[in-house]
Amino acid sequence: MADAPRPRPEISRRSLLTFAAGGAAALGMSVTAGRVEGTPAKLSQQAVAYQNTPKNDQRCDACVHFEPPSSCKLIEGEINPSGWCKMFKKK
Ligand code: SF4
Repeated sequence: MADAPRPRPEISRRSLLTFAAGGAAALGMSVTAGRVEGTPAKLSQQAVAYQNTPKNDQRCDACVHFEPPSSCKLIEGEINPSGWCKMFKKK
């Protein structure tokens, strides 16, 4: 006699999202508006047309994203304080 098909538990979208958020929390990350934070998500220098020289009066050390002495919150790699990219935002 063949086994009767077992009933499949209902898995709601909400329970899946809750499970995913719990997993992310266990890994020290947080889920905000569908985006997982806590993982490096910097853009490449090439993607933002980074250059080692200023553009007019715009330069990295006058940008809100610059992190002295040579980093950027948004862009990966070493950043020259007198550099520039398309993500520039004046302090
Ligand atoms: S200009 Fe670009 S690379 Fe420089 S600090 Fe701002 S966002 Fe970062």
